[in-house]
Amino acid sequence: MNSQVELQDKPHTGNDMQSDAVVLSCRNLRKSYRQGSNELEVLRGVELEVRRGEKLAIVGASGSGKSTLLNLLGGLDTATSGEVQVAGKDLATLNANERGWLRNSSLGFVYQFHHLLGEFSALENVAMPLLIGKRAVSEAREEAAAMLRAVGLGERLDHKPSQLSGGERQRVAIARALVTHPACVLMDEPTGNLDRATAREIHGLMDRLNRELGISFVIVTHDPDLAAALDRTLHLIDGRLESDWQQGDHV
Ligand code: ADP
Ligand code: MG
Repeated sequence: MNSQVELQDKPHTGNDMQSDAVVLSCRNLRKSYRQGSNELEVLRGVELEVRRGEKLAIVGASGSGKSTLLNLLGGLDTATSGEVQVAGKDLATLNANERGWLRNSSLGFVYQFHHLLGEFSALENVAMPLLIGKRAVSEAREEAAAMLRAVGLGERLDHKPSQLSGGERQRVAIARALVTHPACVLMDEPTGNLDRATAREIHGLMDRLNRELGISFVIVTHDPDLAAALDRTLHLIDGRLESDWQQGDHV
C-alpha cells in the first residue's frame, strides 16, 4: 500500500484550532417504523456529539438500529423526531439541495453494501464526489487515483465494480468516502469482509487521515481490534446510546 497519498489542505481541516468543535450531533433522536398496525420503535432518544478529530465505535446487537442511526446522522433518512446537526446546521431546516450539498462537502459514507456505480470504473467512482463538488476533472481524477493507491488499488483504476473482488469493492467505497477529506466519515461495518492484513492497512490509512487532517470517524463495527483502536465505544441498547462507563454502572 502506498503511504504517499497527497493530503490536500482544506479550510475546515489541517489545524488544531477548532479541535473541540462539534462536527456532528444529534439530540433526542427517535425513529419508529410502521408495519401495518404495529409501530416498531427502533431509536428512543439517541444523544450524540462527535467532536473534530474524534473516532467513535458504535456497537450493538444485530437489529438494534445501528444502520438506522447512521442513515439519520447522514441525512439519508428522516427521524420520527429529534434533531441532527451537521457542521452546526440542523438538517431539518435545509431543503433537499442544501442537505445534499452539506452531505457531499462535510460527510463521507461507507455503507454495508458499498453502492458503487456499476457502469463506472473504480477511478470514476472515487472521483464522483469531487466532480459533484465542482472540482476540475483532471484534479478530481488525480486525487481519486492517489486515494485508490492509498487503499492499495493503484493497479485497479480502470476496473469496473463487477471486475473487482468484494474486498476490493469495499476499498473503492472507502476511498470514495475519504477523497473529499470530509469533516466526518460514517462507516457501517467497513472492514467486515476484508482479510486481517487489508483491514489493518485500511485502519492505518484512517488513522493517518485522522491525525493529519483531523477527520472524525463514526464506525459501526463488530471488529474488537478496530473498536479498541478508536477513542470511545458507544453501545446501542434499547434504542439509546450508552458509553462504556454507563454500561459498567448497570452491572
Ligand atoms: P442494525 O444495523 O443494528 O442491524 P437496523 O438499523 O438495520 O439494525 O434495523 C433496526 C430494526 O429496524 C430492525 O429490527 C429492522 O428490521 C428494522 N427496520 C430497519 N429498516 C426498516 C424499514 N425500512 N422498515 C421497517 N423496519 C425496518
Ligand atoms: Mg446494520
